[in-house]
Amino acid sequence: MPTKKYTKKKKQGYLDFNHARTPEQISLMKKIVEDGVCPFCKEFFTKYHPKPILKETKWWYVSENMSPYEGTSLHLIFVYKEHAVMPSEISPEASKELFKLISWAEKENELEGGSFFVRFGKSEMTGGSVDHFHVQLIVGNAKGTDKKYDKLKVKLGYKKPE
Ligand SMILES: [Zn+2]
Repeated sequence: MPTKKYTKKKKQGYLDFNHARTPEQISLMKKIVEDGVCPFCKEFFTKYHPKPILKETKWWYVSENMSPYEGTSLHLIFVYKEHAVMPSEISPEASKELFKLISWAEKENELEGGSFFVRFGKSEMTGGSVDHFHVQLIVGNAKGTDKKYDKLKVKLGYKKPE
């Protein structure tokens, strides 16, 4: 169940303004709502996404997140080219290709560690901002001994009220 702070009014089209994080995102999202499209579908992704496509395959686009999470040293997104919301809609061939792409990103960036995750389905349950299947890969920094190294924060849903 979403918190009381979540408002249905802020969900417009394929986008959820409750979960927008930066002014750049909000102004782009407003334009997309006006145009009435899904910004992650293949016909529109390159039109709206401000970062370059790093790799394109039959099923996926790989790019950087337009607003990387605070403190990350790398934040990539893997966007399914067909419109899909749930994992069950992803072609088995595409899931195989996804792992190849994650391995590609690992080698390309000489990663020593990182995390990847997918929010899917209703954004009021996940903290997602675009209702279109995409995978996120984030890399932080080695903790070291400096106390200033705080944890990366990722919203992956809402807690059940106590
Ligand atoms: Zn879409």
